[in-house]
Amino acid sequence: MKYDFLENFIGGEFTNSFSQKFLEVISPVDGSLLSKVCLSSAADLDNAVNAAKKAFSTWSKTPIKERVQIFFRYRNLLEENLQSLAELCSQENGKTISESIAEVEKSIELTEFACSMPQLIAGEVLEVSRGVECRIEHVPLGVVASIVPFNFPNMVPNWTIPNAIVLGNCMILKPSEKVPLSAGKLAELLKKAGLPDGVFNIVNGDVAIVEAICDHPGIDAVSFVGSTKVAKIVYQRATHNYKRCLALGGAKNHLIVLPDAIPDMTAQNVAVSMSGCAGQRCMAASAMVGVGNVDAIIDKICDEVKKIIPGKNLGAVINKQSQERIEKYITEAEQQGAKILVDGRNTKVEGKENGTYVGPTVIDYVTSDMSVAKEEIFGPVISIMRAKNIDDALAIENANPYGNAASVFTQNGGMARYIIDKASAGMIGVNVGVPVPREPFSFGGWNESKFGVGDITGKSSIEFWTKLKKSTIKWNPEAGVNWMS
Ligand code: NAD
Repeated sequence: MKYDFLENFIGGEFTNSFSQKFLEVISPVDGSLLSKVCLSSAADLDNAVNAAKKAFSTWSKTPIKERVQIFFRYRNLLEENLQSLAELCSQENGKTISESIAEVEKSIELTEFACSMPQLIAGEVLEVSRGVECRIEHVPLGVVASIVPFNFPNMVPNWTIPNAIVLGNCMILKPSEKVPLSAGKLAELLKKAGLPDGVFNIVNGDVAIVEAICDHPGIDAVSFVGSTKVAKIVYQRATHNYKRCLALGGAKNHLIVLPDAIPDMTAQNVAVSMSGCAGQRCMAASAMVGVGNVDAIIDKICDEVKKIIPGKNLGAVINKQSQERIEKYITEAEQQGAKILVDGRNTKVEGKENGTYVGPTVIDYVTSDMSVAKEEIFGPVISIMRAKNIDDALAIENANPYGNAASVFTQNGGMARYIIDKASAGMIGVNVGVPVPREPFSFGGWNESKFGVGDITGKSSIEFWTKLKKSTIKWNPEAGVNWMS
């Protein structure tokens, strides 16, 4: 085992779970055993909630300008440890080292944004009648939980940690049991940066601990990032228990390619979008809709995709079940009459025979009724559909139940604007394959890709992580008497 047994992080200390149960953490790169992670019980969660509650009384009263000082230091620690954090991320998730470096760099950007919170959070005040003022302040919620998926072990925890904590909340993070090691390192860095004990805690585990989080009366809000199936379960269960909840789900992102698109740029963007992080990102291009004759562009896409080599510039998928699921989708599409232009099935990487790889795959002549057109595949696979005109293409995009992202490739500004208006997705790209908004802009989809109000990052995260206190104040006895006196 490459790393020590991973415990929970509660009250500033690593501490073992009461349950004495654990799971193996296997590297998708080569199938090696990295570590074992504890599977926590409800009693562990109680401990974490108590530690967080205790810390909240002091942390929430600490001025925000003091709170951000710790995150300036945390940001620098992320930078100083960039290489080792990226290596750990690649080992547990399977993505390439350059993808992991980009992921940690994004964590740094997220933390920098949180450090700007004092500039954004200032409240409002107005003299509403003579001698009477109204003021609005953002106040923290209390103890909040963040439940995260496997595909960004470093970045997605950092979607929530800096913003929620800078805004005065204390947090319990539930990492993905498939990739829990990066989160453990983040806990070490937060402690080193000077974060008081109990402000940030980690409770490791699987389904049982997520259910306990949704039910725990001491937790005020739950953020979730993961598949739509689980997002719905968490959203329903947490809100049923009167908690504030924001649950981000899965995706099926469509790229609409018009015949006037710049061929080389389009082909490069499509190839990178469908294969980056082995297609395991909620912003990956999963379907391409070609409008009219775009055969020459499709040829170029295939040329680009053939340059993507598993084990070199393409990482592994998370585990054997994922590998088999993705390959099953490709086989089904073939059986249903689609044409496999580039086939990534049965991929082996020399020297890493126990790694779980799927090569990049391009499937053409996909029709709307096929499972590859309808479902999230979460692998390096793009399904190409054909549309007669732009409205047919939009009808295909609009019919999918998700709504994370959509992109259009064209040189025609009017057409691009039309797609921006009509696509049913929260994040739109124009000649951009992975249209992730960068800070200070918020990240978040629509439809079955997001349940709840507010966004998980950027300015709109303030709405989720704080509540408003409204005061109406009169000190002057001579103030005007009116209906609200
Ligand atoms: P997942 O839904 O399987 O797991 C997410 C979290 O929920 C994990 O911590 C897991 O332990 C827990 N969980 C799993 N099954 C559960 C259940 N039945 N009840 C309660 N908790 C459960 O997701 P994943 O496989 O880790 O991640 C991939 C998914 O996440 C994809 O669908 C992807 O699109 C989505 N994702 C979405 C976004 C976004 O911004 N919308 C970002 C990243 C990933």
